Amino acid sequence: MAEAKKAKSGGKFGSCCDELKEAMAGEDFEPLVTEGRDGVLYLAVGLVDLEEDEPGMVDHPMYFCPFCGTRVQTAEDVQAKAAANPDDDE
Ligand SMILES: [Zn+2]
Repeated sequence: MAEAKKAKSGGKFGSCCDELKEAMAGEDFEPLVTEGRDGVLYLAVGLVDLEEDEPGMVDHPMYFCPFCGTRVQTAEDVQAKAAANPDDDE
């Protein structure tokens, strides 16, 4: 495993810039950038109509911060975490 220069974090996203931190905090809104239970950072890319009342969120792993361009995780990270947490249903 390549240990990039990510200090000793335990998967703490939002440390690259205030914009991402605030986007994740979502104090006044529903955040579209969230860390899943599997520790992967996800970006909501849209809504999908389910056969229910509530629309569902379509999210996708986010590899780079959309605000400052810092790489927040790699495809390998995501795959490893997803493999370690096969049950990623809400
Ligand atoms: Zn950033």
